[in-house]
Amino acid sequence: MVATRIDLHTHSSCSDGTDTPEQLMVLAARTGLDVIALTDHDTFAGIAAASKMVPECGVTLVPGVEISTSHQGITAHLLAYLPDLKSQVLPDLFEKTVQARQQRMREMVQRLSADFEISYQEVLAQAGSSPIGRPHVADVLVKAGYFPNRSAVFEQVLATSSKYYVHYQAPDTIEAVEQVIAAGAVPVLAHPRAGGRQRRFLSVDAIAQLKEAGLFALEAFHPEQNQLEQAEVRKIAKLLGLAVTGSSDYHGSGKPNQLGECLTAPEVFAEICSRGAGELLRP
Ligand code: AMP
Ligand code: ZN
Ligand code: FE
Ligand code: FE
Repeated sequence: MVATRIDLHTHSSCSDGTDTPEQLMVLAARTGLDVIALTDHDTFAGIAAASKMVPECGVTLVPGVEISTSHQGITAHLLAYLPDLKSQVLPDLFEKTVQARQQRMREMVQRLSADFEISYQEVLAQAGSSPIGRPHVADVLVKAGYFPNRSAVFEQVLATSSKYYVHYQAPDTIEAVEQVIAAGAVPVLAHPRAGGRQRRFLSVDAIAQLKEAGLFALEAFHPEQNQLEQAEVRKIAKLLGLAVTGSSDYHGSGKPNQLGECLTAPEVFAEICSRGAGELLRP
């Protein structure tokens, strides 16, 4: 019997991935995944299209989302699995975030336009109906011929330390955990020690407060956390009595992360299923 292969963090073109939800499901089947969670940034827009592919792909789909939050000025991404899809709590939260992202992107493009010939309208068009983010401005800079790919743009001009970078007001992480719980979903803190992305992380004390609010797990096994960082995450999880997950954070051709390269243990997945109010979409 082949072990169950479960990847709980992926993005489609409904946020900043480059594969459509349909293409993502086909790739999941080809990669030999048994279970995939679609976790676009601040939107459930891709879930319906992905769910239509479940029967022909034979892959179980976990409806989910990755919520942009910040706590004391530190950015944190919160995954939420199996919400009650009738609840308006999370869609209301996303509406505010999308507006804050638009405001922030206007400011970033203004800064960038001093050195690169790009406009906010182009970035808006690149994002389409997706919540606008740095990957979309990266795509515009690549199309204009300034950089070879997204990763190069992030390294050279979009890092949080760059003079072009602008922070945006996202919901507080603790309040977001409370809202995820209110929506019947299961909260997991994404890549809490990915040192290539940011310099400052949520402290152990802050993560303890998230646990108090209902946090279920930390994402330990992730392509952007090295061995030392993963060990640190597992140590914090053990200390606080949190579960650990593993996921690829696949973004299509926008990032080197390969679908299925990091996986979650079946017993942890079973616990997520028993806690979530929403239904799994099974073949
Ligand atoms: P934003 O939410 O606008 O601050 O953009 C953050 C998103 O950019 C992350 O969630 C990733 O999907 C993406 N990202 C971060 N670093 C990189 C990178 N080095 N290459 C490509 N995409 C990245
Ligand atoms: Zn992303
Ligand atoms: Fe993330
Ligand atoms: Fe992600």
